[in-house]
Amino acid sequence: MNMRIGFGYDMHRFEKGRALWIGGIQLDHHSGLLGHSDADVLIHAICDALLGAANLRDIGYHFPDTSPEYEGTDSKILLKKCISLLHDKGYRVGNIDTTVCAEYPKLNPHIPTMRQKLAEVMELDSDAISIKATTSEKMGFVGRGEGITAYAIALIEKI
Ligand SMILES: [Zn+2]
Repeated sequence: MNMRIGFGYDMHRFEKGRALWIGGIQLDHHSGLLGHSDADVLIHAICDALLGAANLRDIGYHFPDTSPEYEGTDSKILLKKCISLLHDKGYRVGNIDTTVCAEYPKLNPHIPTMRQKLAEVMELDSDAISIKATTSEKMGFVGRGEGITAYAIALIEKI
């Protein structure tokens, strides 16, 4: 079996005065997501899917939120590190499929830019990265606009 799949999930809550980073780009919004790094919820879900596919533990294991090294860090750097961990173990990425669940801001207009940015970081064709956006139909913490969740699956193959 030369192919493996992995799943990733992440959530962050909104905090006023923070910059909002999703999918490697900054979005114009009155609040951002709270986290030790830039709190890019989509990139974190992708990192966990990639690490999970290669059975390399999780994002918190490699980049602990107690480490000053990763305070305020650009999550694109973490994603690049996950890709190199995969390469070290002899895998490359096949494709990635994701869903971001947010009541606001509207993400659909930004999806092509996010895909392009993530493709650049992972050195993949942008066709290998799918991003879907949905809301929570006003239910639960996402529906009340308290935070954002993201889900990702990744397929990797032995080089
Ligand atoms: Zn996160």
